[in-house]
Amino acid sequence: MIPIAMPLLADEEADAARAAVLSGWISQGSEVAAFEQEFAALVDAPFACAVSSCTTALQVALAALGIGPGDEVITASHSFIATANSIKYQGATPVFVDIDPDTYNIDPDRVLEAITPRTRAIIAVHQMGMPCNLAALVALADRHGVALIEDAACAAGSRIQVNGTWERIGKPHGRVACFSFHPRKVITTGEGGMITTADPELDRKFRLLRQHGMSVPDTVRHGSPRVIFEDYLVVGYNYRMTDIQAAVGRKQLERLPELVARRRAVAARYAELLGNLEGLRLPAEPEWARSNWQSYCVCLPDRVDQRSVMQNLLDIEIATRRGIMCSHREPPYVKMRHRHELRHSELAQDHSILLPIYAQMSQENVAFVANAVRNEINR
Ligand SMILES: *Cc1c(COP(=O)(O)O)cnc(C)c1O
Repeated sequence: MIPIAMPLLADEEADAARAAVLSGWISQGSEVAAFEQEFAALVDAPFACAVSSCTTALQVALAALGIGPGDEVITASHSFIATANSIKYQGATPVFVDIDPDTYNIDPDRVLEAITPRTRAIIAVHQMGMPCNLAALVALADRHGVALIEDAACAAGSRIQVNGTWERIGKPHGRVACFSFHPRKVITTGEGGMITTADPELDRKFRLLRQHGMSVPDTVRHGSPRVIFEDYLVVGYNYRMTDIQAAVGRKQLERLPELVARRRAVAARYAELLGNLEGLRLPAEPEWARSNWQSYCVCLPDRVDQRSVMQNLLDIEIATRRGIMCSHREPPYVKMRHRHELRHSELAQDHSILLPIYAQMSQENVAFVANAVRNEINR
């Protein structure tokens, strides 16, 4: 079976987890602090705060920005449902806008049309690791005085070109960027997330919110020769990462450049092998973007049926997934009045499929998948 994805975990990660277990401190502690510093250094962010997932990262980001009932947050429906749910958790209203069909990313022109006096933030997703049009979105957010939050769940290791230099996603381009370390992403800690920002006040709020609003963290009290009483300053959450996860994450971070290079090689090979197929649309990488290729999504010609293609591939032991979901079609969102056209989002969900991609995927398997897709298109 060729799986849709496969994390690359080995002895280094297992040894690191073992050491954390045996250290006597397994909740959020020195491994989490080191992981945060190393992540911040890698992406060139002044601050990085580890949390339990990207879903909690997005919620904490919105909460720290003071977004709540009555506020509108513009985002893509065409995303994993956690993007929209994070807005709902805060009691705010998601306003869904359409994507650019070539990159599957939010279209800045549609964002502009959706801005109202109630708009407080934009959550822009770097979908499947492909950087969204940050230059346009940052300018737009600044001009309208709204916060830009990057849902970078899939985008660890992706880059954009800014004034001629390549910068990693996570260097604060927007106000906040949120990452995921779920096993479907490029690096993993089992579950886990990271929030980067350049704003020290926001970082302070993230740290309060992830740990019950506690004024003095347990690590500090534990290490102090004097008795310290803590306060609980705000209604916070328990969104901590454990030291076991962070120890694994530090090893994954060391592998990140290599993992991205290998994924880029797989994507380049798919592009070569599938480039001249009549009616098959390959994902576009803008010249200012370098994807980490968290997923490789192809849009099928109208004449072929998505489900039959997926079934035929599964029958020869190739796993695929349908295109990214649309949140506005799911029960919690279906009854909302959607003000904006979401045609490209729906077409992408109904006509695209994700092909297997992972760092350790062999040349033979890439060729086998490409050949099977070719047979389906030419059937
Ligand atoms: C995976 C994903 C999330 C959720 O990440 P978790 O760490 O699993 O909570 C959010 N947004 C997008 C775009 C994702 O792909």
